[in-house]
Amino acid sequence: MTGLKAASDAAALYRRQFGSDPAGLWTAPGRVNLIGEHTDYNDGFVLPFALPQRTVAAAGPAPAGEWTVCSAFADEPVSFGATAPGEVTGWAGYVAGVVWSLRDAGFDVPGARIALTSEVPVGSGLSSSAALESAVLTALVDLGGLDLPVDRRPALAQRAENVYVGAPTGILDQSASIRCRAGHALFLDCRTLEVEQIPFDLAAAGLAILVINSNAPHQHVDGEYGARRKSCEEAARQLGVPALRDVPADGLAAALERLDDAVIRRRVRHIVTENQRVLDTVELLRTGRLREIGPLLTASHASMRDDFEITVAQVDVAVETALAAGAHGARMTGGGFGGCVLALIDADRAGATTEAVEAAYAQRSFTPPTAWTVTAGPGAGRLSDEPDR
Ligand code: ADP
Ligand code: MG
Repeated sequence: MTGLKAASDAAALYRRQFGSDPAGLWTAPGRVNLIGEHTDYNDGFVLPFALPQRTVAAAGPAPAGEWTVCSAFADEPVSFGATAPGEVTGWAGYVAGVVWSLRDAGFDVPGARIALTSEVPVGSGLSSSAALESAVLTALVDLGGLDLPVDRRPALAQRAENVYVGAPTGILDQSASIRCRAGHALFLDCRTLEVEQIPFDLAAAGLAILVINSNAPHQHVDGEYGARRKSCEEAARQLGVPALRDVPADGLAAALERLDDAVIRRRVRHIVTENQRVLDTVELLRTGRLREIGPLLTASHASMRDDFEITVAQVDVAVETALAAGAHGARMTGGGFGGCVLALIDADRAGATTEAVEAAYAQRSFTPPTAWTVTAGPGAGRLSDEPDR
């Protein structure tokens, strides 16, 4: 099982660091968003699934009000007590943020020792940050026997990232890491937080999703993300709606006529058409027509490239090359300005598609891409298997 190595590594790190066995192992996955980009903070729709790659938290008890966390990423463990947002900085801030968020919501969070390992690539748009928050939150909830229903957990993990760490992200990442189920994509209404598990059994359809990490350096991500959010909020204000979610696809033309800024019009067109593409994708998947979602994925990419303007040359080349190599559809996934592309391919085309993208990158002297196929895995939970010693 994927995750076992990270699990045994986390248990070993815990023992080395704290000199005893952990009370348990908790894991949470990274995610890819099948479709629905930048729709989450517009109260719209998203459709992520959980990656096989996971973050593992080996955790055990500590005295009340004391938390110590170490990570295979970092040289030194970090200890903290009750803190306020921003007080613990760097990677441990994500953990301190989860403790703060739970306490701020009124929960009696148990003191804990936590050792972290991860298979989720960091900073590639696959949400290693949400995997980390979700693994830690699930561990603390179980260790403390906290009465926190699963449907409330994503928002609390999100507050850790938004308020404590200070990264303004939507609810997509934490919802995916916590609520996804194996063999399914998670249809999430970001306004009501209602979810529906949508069957997504690629292997049964003879298909695969190839994730291609562009390995492009992320640049200006935070500033550009903030600018997109502001444009969307401004458009909703001008249109007199609570959020762009409230502009239906058949009301798009009328809405665009009421906006005088060409850039804002393009941003609105992306969000409104992207919401509709999520709904169309869900409809096809509900009726088992997996292959037919390909053109929707490709249209989503064109919309991100031309209207939302969040792609870079490396991701555009990966999409074009995958399509030329026979992919049914392909698009950038994640917030943009680098990160990963996903391509819907016939299951036997992974090698050929990867080689084609590698050759296209080499021709342009891009840093080589990394590619692997993925299936939809389970969301956060406790590992019942005993790790290998
Ligand atoms: P992404 O979520 O796309 O991978 P982010 O910038 O949102 O990228 O989050 C990455 C940050 O999360 C890292 O810089 C680090 O601070 C933290 N992080 C993620 N996984 C771990 C881990 N296993 N151990 C320690 N810190 C981690
Ligand atoms: Mg993140």
